[in-house]
Order: sequence, then C-alpha cells, then structure tokens
Amino acid sequence: MQIANNQIFANNNPIIRKNIFIKIYFTINVLFNIETESNKYNPTLKNQPILMFAQVLISCLVLFQSPIAQAQSVTPEKALQLLREGNERFCSGKSTRPRQDSVTVRMLAKSQAPFAIIMGCSDSRVPNEIIFDQGLGDLFIVRTAGQVPAAASFGSIEFADRMLGAKLIVVLGHTSCGAVSAAVQRPEVPGHIVHLINEIKPAVESARKQTGDLTHNAIYENVRLQVQKLRELEPVLAKDQREGKIKIVGAVYHLDNGRVEFLPDTLTEAQAKK
Ligand SMILES: [Zn+2]
Repeated sequence: MQIANNQIFANNNPIIRKNIFIKIYFTINVLFNIETESNKYNPTLKNQPILMFAQVLISCLVLFQSPIAQAQSVTPEKALQLLREGNERFCSGKSTRPRQDSVTVRMLAKSQAPFAIIMGCSDSRVPNEIIFDQGLGDLFIVRTAGQVPAAASFGSIEFADRMLGAKLIVVLGHTSCGAVSAAVQRPEVPGHIVHLINEIKPAVESARKQTGDLTHNAIYENVRLQVQKLRELEPVLAKDQREGKIKIVGAVYHLDNGRVEFLPDTLTEAQAKK
C-alpha cells in the first residue's frame, strides 16, 4: 500500500522516510535503465547528466539512511511514541498499513532493523503489526501464551537489542487472557501447558492481595512482573536499560476496543520494583 505524503511527514517517522528514499532510488534506477536501453536507438538520450546526477544523489541518501543508521536514530521514547500513534490510528479506523509492499520486501531481504521488541501473548486476537499499525521490519516479536518468560524468549530479546538495534521492549498482555485464567483456575491440563501456568502463578498470588476481579488483576500483575524480570535480567538487558540504551515498558491490549493501555507505573525506570 502506498503512503500519502501528508501521512509521511505527519508521522515524522525516520523508518518511513527511509522507505521513501528507497522507492525514489528504485524509480530513478528504472528510469535510468530505460534511457540506457533507448540509447541504442536514440543517441540524443545518451549520458543524461541530470538523470545520472539524481541517481548518484539518491544513492548517497540511501546509503546514509541505512537500516543500522535508522535503528540508531530512533530513541526509546520515539519508539514508544511510534507505537502509541500507530495504535491510535488503528483504534480510530485510520490505519495506514505502512511498509507492506513489494519494494519494502526487497529492501529488507538482506537486513533488518526493528525499532521495537514486543514480548506478547500468542493469542490470535492480538496481531502486533495490525494493532500498532506497523509494517515489515518494524517489530521484533516474541510470543508465547501468557507471554511467559523463558530462556529462548530472553535470548531472542537480547538478540534484537544488541544485534538489531531495537530500542524499546513492550511486555504486552491482554484482557481475557486464557493463559492467565488457567493460572487462576488451575484446571487439569495435558502436556506442557502446565509450564505456562507455573510461570504465571506468582502474578496470581500477587493479585490475590488486591481487591477486584482476580483474573483481571493477575493479567496486569503478570505484565508488571515480567517487566521487572526483564529489567533485572543480567548481563544484557539490565545493563542496557541502566545505560538508557533501551526502554522496557508494560502494556495491556483491550480485546473489546483495540486499545493498547501502556501501564503508567512501568513507564519510568524506578517503579518496576513495586
Ligand atoms: Zn493471552
């Protein structure tokens, strides 16, 4: 899907700007190649200086706007803003579905630079790129039922942090989460499902101390505890968070209206330990 110019600059999104440079680059290349092919039959088209200059100029811009440079240019705060704005577009029915075209597919074939990591629930009703209105290459997503912590998840997150340059980690729970409900109700479950329940038990126990609906409170506690766990995870995430290289926040997606509620008490560094 093409992006309207007003959306491009209203978003002020450097990742979107990079795509524009790439698209212009491809367009210039196509034009240049056509003219070059035509040279065989029309000598007047030979060595079009303006076209050549434009190609060199755009090439320089593309190189300057490399994926790594882009990832480094997005601050943790900017990454959070991009997700907030994307969810706002989604909720208001104004999704732009950016960077989901064949040019972006080709551009990302050899590298990626996601600006955010989502550690979320596997629930089919919480498709991350859709609810945040993002595109290919934007989000590095680690999903398990109940977004429970696991060594493989930690390694994946650290990889996206250190190797891909992501600047924000969002622990994303959601309302009516079946995994959290199971941890509350403790039904007999087959196979490995019990591992999910065991990982969510601490959140349930914490929620029992609160007033109100136990499952609802456990969903929020589960997010908070996982934010805390990631912030304390040595040697990579804890260090990078202390140094301000990455921000770790918690959020709950509301199934009934599509809104992502970023938890205020996870938006500052000190509050993670409650
Ligand atoms: Zn869930």
